[in-house]
Amino acid sequence: MTPVSTTDRFGVPLGTAEAAVPLHPLAAANQLLAGETVHQFIAESGAATLLAASAVAGARGPSTGPTPESLGARIDAVDLAAPLGGTNAALTEAADLYLKDAVYFHHPRYQAHLNCPVLIPAVAAEALVTSVNSSMDTWDQSAGATLIERRLTRWTAADLIGLGADADGVFTSGGTQSNLQAMLIARNHAVATRTGSLPERLAGLRIYTSADSHFSIAKAATLLGMGEDAVVAVPTDRAHRMDAHALRAAIEADTAAGLTPMAVVATAGTTDFGAIDPLAACSALAAEHGAWFHVDAAYGCGLLVSRHRDCLAGIEAADSVTVDFHKSFFQPIGSSALILADDAHFGHITHYADYLNPAGEAGTVPNQVDKSLQTTRRFDALKLWVSLRSMGTDAIGALFDELIDLAATAASLVAAHPDLELAADVQLSTVVFRYLPAAHDGAAPLDPAAVNALQDSIRAALYSSGEAMVAATTVDGARHLKLTLLNPRATLADLDAVLAAVVVAGDRLSREATR
Ligand SMILES: *Cc1c(COP(=O)(O)O)cnc(C)c1O
Repeated sequence: MTPVSTTDRFGVPLGTAEAAVPLHPLAAANQLLAGETVHQFIAESGAATLLAASAVAGARGPSTGPTPESLGARIDAVDLAAPLGGTNAALTEAADLYLKDAVYFHHPRYQAHLNCPVLIPAVAAEALVTSVNSSMDTWDQSAGATLIERRLTRWTAADLIGLGADADGVFTSGGTQSNLQAMLIARNHAVATRTGSLPERLAGLRIYTSADSHFSIAKAATLLGMGEDAVVAVPTDRAHRMDAHALRAAIEADTAAGLTPMAVVATAGTTDFGAIDPLAACSALAAEHGAWFHVDAAYGCGLLVSRHRDCLAGIEAADSVTVDFHKSFFQPIGSSALILADDAHFGHITHYADYLNPAGEAGTVPNQVDKSLQTTRRFDALKLWVSLRSMGTDAIGALFDELIDLAATAASLVAAHPDLELAADVQLSTVVFRYLPAAHDGAAPLDPAAVNALQDSIRAALYSSGEAMVAATTVDGARHLKLTLLNPRATLADLDAVLAAVVVAGDRLSREATR
């Protein structure tokens, strides 16, 4: 006898669709995801997946190069008071306004900022996260989601970073928030033993970080009431790593002047050069002066699972670590975590609310809001969990290794080109360089200001052509172009094509400039 199926072809229990008729008397209530509306949910989220798939498959370049004016006029023309009356019509309109001219990070000639193509298991997991919509603030809004997040943060702390049994962490929206929370905890730790009002207790605290560190550290100091003046920009060496001798000199001069080192922030993978500060020397200096030691591995965290893991030696001495899975673990935005070597330090920011996480539950109920700056919070850990359960860490590490190899290849192409100049040796997966034209047909060489302007014009020309995207930055006052390679599917041909586009644009624009 053939077994009688109890589900339809979507796996939805038979009878559910019929139960949906008659629908809810309030028409809008039929737009809410519920047991009775799952067939609409399947059809419409399927339609959205198809639109996204055709946009991804159809993208001929990383962008179509729209201007804010051209797109803005079309978006402003939408009458938000006149709804289209259905998901499919609204999705079709969104495809026209958004997908058609979006910036596509999966495209191998997108080499601009720290954005990655996303893993399919992670994107698939997002459907679960958004549909169920668990909230991570308390156990009674999340259940297994809280335990999965905790398992992942503890595993990141112990198995990847090498911290001890007391280590734990929390997911955040991104590296900026992770760094802010790290500095907040370090600040509260530093002032806990001081007396007076908070402004009095903050006086004289200093944060030491390299001149090349991420701006979110300075921003955090401002938000924490310390001001950007509290951040000491320590000079870097030729490889753009924090100079440990300069760090020692700065700390010693400040302590002699009566100031207090609150934290040393080392960067493991700077945004421009991928430089990894000398972690062991930084942690030793922090320990010597009773300062908190934070490692910003927002970009470099991919090394934790790579064959280049030894580049991060010393990270296991950190008091706190920022990791951005949405940069080097190929996760959709947002997926970041702040990890603490001693989870008791989360107590510095815990606030108990009677309606949510009453003090009486402390230690007995796993309420993640005790550790987070956010209250309502997405279950961002699941996509990483599903990626790891599907592929494993070595596979993700192999993708990051591929990027390091690609960057080395790109650097050698730049170095070999007569009109391109490499700014520094490549360390992770960024390549900083500039177009430096030989004088054309006896024309006078460009002055430094014109060379600077030329780099920005090249970048703009590539963007508007839509064929490639690169970034720009300033090195010792000189504008440069930057390739950020986070797409392991990019090939030598893609690198060649992007550099050729830079040279063609540079040649044309510099001739125009000297004419
Ligand atoms: C990207 C980056 C950040 C900020 O992270 P977001 O996720 O963009 O908020 C912080 N530090 C470094 C070194 C980064 O590269």
